[in-house]
Order: sequence, then C-alpha cells, then structure tokens
Amino acid sequence: MFTKNFDGIKPFEKKIWLASPTMHKEELEWIAKAIKDNWVTTAGDNINDLEKVCAEHIGRKYGVGLSSGTASLHLAIKICGEKLYGQPKVGHGTLEGRKVFCSDMTFAATANPIAYEGGEAVFIDTDPDAWNMDLVALEKAFAIHPDVKLVVVANLYGFTGNLEKLVEICHSHDALIVEDAAESFGTTYNGKQTGMFGDVSIISFNGNKIITGSTGGMLLTDSEEDAHKVRKWSIQSREDAPWYQHEEIGYNYRLSNLVAGAALGNYGHLADHISQKKAIYERYKEGLKGLPLSMMPIIDGCVPNYWLSCAIIDKDAMCKQVRSESEKEALYVSESGKTCPTEILETLAKFNAEGRPIWKPMHMQPVYRMFPFITRNGTGRARSNAYIKENGIMDVGADIFDRGLCLPSDNKMTAEQQETIIDIIRRCFG
Ligand SMILES: *Cc1c(COP(=O)(O)O)cnc(C)c1O
Repeated sequence: MFTKNFDGIKPFEKKIWLASPTMHKEELEWIAKAIKDNWVTTAGDNINDLEKVCAEHIGRKYGVGLSSGTASLHLAIKICGEKLYGQPKVGHGTLEGRKVFCSDMTFAATANPIAYEGGEAVFIDTDPDAWNMDLVALEKAFAIHPDVKLVVVANLYGFTGNLEKLVEICHSHDALIVEDAAESFGTTYNGKQTGMFGDVSIISFNGNKIITGSTGGMLLTDSEEDAHKVRKWSIQSREDAPWYQHEEIGYNYRLSNLVAGAALGNYGHLADHISQKKAIYERYKEGLKGLPLSMMPIIDGCVPNYWLSCAIIDKDAMCKQVRSESEKEALYVSESGKTCPTEILETLAKFNAEGRPIWKPMHMQPVYRMFPFITRNGTGRARSNAYIKENGIMDVGADIFDRGLCLPSDNKMTAEQQETIIDIIRRCFG
C-alpha cells in the first residue's frame, strides 16, 4: 500500500542485515589449530586465551568462557543469589521469594535468568535521555522495596546510562549488581570499559553481537573464588575427585574450544568493528538531519561501541500506528508528512533491508505483564497498559517502543547502500 513516492529506488540485490557476523581469517586459524591439536571439547588453549584477552581488555581479573550470554547471566545471577541468600536446597532457586530490580527495555535474556532462579523481576522504567535504566525510578524502587539486594542492568544497544551513579545508588543500598554488557563489549563510561561496573558482569558472543564466535559468552569477576565456582558449575559441578563426585547441582554451560577459536579471531577486529559501526551511526545522524527524528542519545561520559544505530520519531510526526498487545501484528495508516516505525520497517523490508523494532519492554510482554513495574511517577503493577495511559503514569519504555526503531546497522553495508536506506527513510516522511 504505497502512498509515498519511492520511484527510482531499486531493491538491494543482497539483503542488508540488521547486524550479521563478520568473519576474517584468524577465526579459521584458531579453529584449525583446535582441530589439529584435537582440542575440540570444552577445554583448550582458545578458551584460556579468550578468557585472558577479554578480562584484560575490560579490566577484570577473571573471565569464565560459557556457552552463551544467557548462560553467563544465569550463573552471574546465581552466584549473587547465593552470596546474598545462601545455598538453596536441591530443586530450589537461589532467589525464591525474592525480588530483583531489572532493566525493562532490553532483550528477554536479561530478565529470564531471574526466573530460572525462582526470583521475581521488578522492572525499572527507562530514562528518556539515556535509553537505559532510569536512576530516578531505581531510587524510587529502593524506597518502595528496601529489601531488594540485587540489580540486573543491561547496557542498551552498546550505549550506557550513568553507570557510576547506578553503582553508587546500588551500593548505598548494599545491593549487588549484575551488569549485562552483552551488547556493549568495547563501550566505555568515564574511561572504564563496560563489564567493569557489575559485581559480576557478562558479555555475549552471539552471532549478531559486535564480536562473535557464532555463539558463546563470558562471565567477568574480580573474585577468584567466584570464577572457580562458576567454572565448576558450568561443567556439571564435578568435584576434584577420581570419580564423578557432586556436592552441588551442575550445568553443561562451558564454552567450546572451537567456538572460542572463532571468538578469539573475531576479537582481534573489535576496534575495526567499532569504527565501522560508529561511521554508520554518524552517516545516519548526518543523512537524517532536518527530519522530525533523532538518533539514540549518547550521554556525557559514554563512548559507545555503536552496536546498533537506533532512532526515534518526534511525537507530532507519528502517523497512526497500532501494535496489538495480544495479537502479533502492527497496523498503521500512511499519512503525508508523517510516518511510524512500522511503515519504515515494512518499507525497508520491501527494498530488502532489515531493521527491527526497539526491544519490546518486559513489562509489556505477556509473560511478565503481571510483574511489578516502577516508573518515575508511578507503578504499573498488575495493570494494563491502557490503565497506565489513562492515569498519566509515565511509561518511557512504551513510548520509545512506540516511536523508536533499530536501523540496518550491518558493518558490511557500504556508504552507498546506506545512502539509499537514508533516502528510503526520508521518503517515508514524504
Ligand atoms: C544477546 C543478549 C543476551 C544473550 O546473549 P546470548 O549469547 O544470545 O545468550 C543477553 N542480554 C542482552 C541485552 C543481549 O542483547
């Protein structure tokens, strides 16, 4: 249903991805070495080397290579839960009956491990000026729930909020922090790498992250004891004994030496990937100037890795768009001079380019809808989004989800291809 003019634009012959893996030649070298040495298991030099370079890059004492970012988050949350509440009985989680504060606008993998451990996530709304956890809402959350001792915070799309202030708030309430730096490897805040701000932090090597091993993740800590414990948990909690001896429940979460080889080779290109992603963000910023839209903000002190370039459309330039809460579709009415994320994403898809909606906030997810949600001026607990709207409760996450989108951010996209994408977006406002 094109009412706008896209004359003269041809679809891309090869799809432009949101973010796809970028392999070089070193990945194959390290994988080949593992095969040649017959170290194709969950032990070997590639794992050891990857742990060493990542921990050093970030500035942590220990890295533990695990099978995914999600597995890393699970064990990060579990080790904090055990520190806070002790070892649970077999068959029980470390967080049973406990509330945990958690970023709201993020990938579900940030929040799910709280549930794996039997805890209840309390979602904290998003700061409109940082697109990361709202620290005003966080302080409010501590006032409402002073017993909470664990905060899981994600750095969104490779950009951070004020992490120093966040640490200060959490530590003043004797709360531990799990930092989900899955999307922000290489990002710094006030000169410190992300991954340094959590009591325990994690990164991910998932296929679309800035550095990938096809999959994989890593837990980061300064505690030798914690690193040792997590490593043990990840290999089925096998004790140091001649037979299979188990004092605790274990997991099969250890990183593969082949995957570590790919991640290690890819890691050598982190700086290149960041500069390519930065150039993409800046070309969008320049090319979309003058439109009623702004790029995701970069707060003072943050040097992002620019993993994804995201933007938000001004309120008065939004055409009518409805995303049904329970059904899984979006509808919009195309209007001259206005547009919406759905129109832009559908149009880009027609030209063979992939964008994506902003992460749908956790408090809007059917699975988490009855969970507590705390915003600057209210709480949305057990209430519909309609209730939140009617009562004027500020819900920044819902607003950014409504008006924001992730633009094609693949580092293999050429400047020329990106100019075409910018042209398509401009014409969506036509
Ligand atoms: C990708 C991602 C994860 C999960 O990492 P996997 O390696 O895919 O398990 C967790 N949190 C955030 C914010 C992510 O983007």
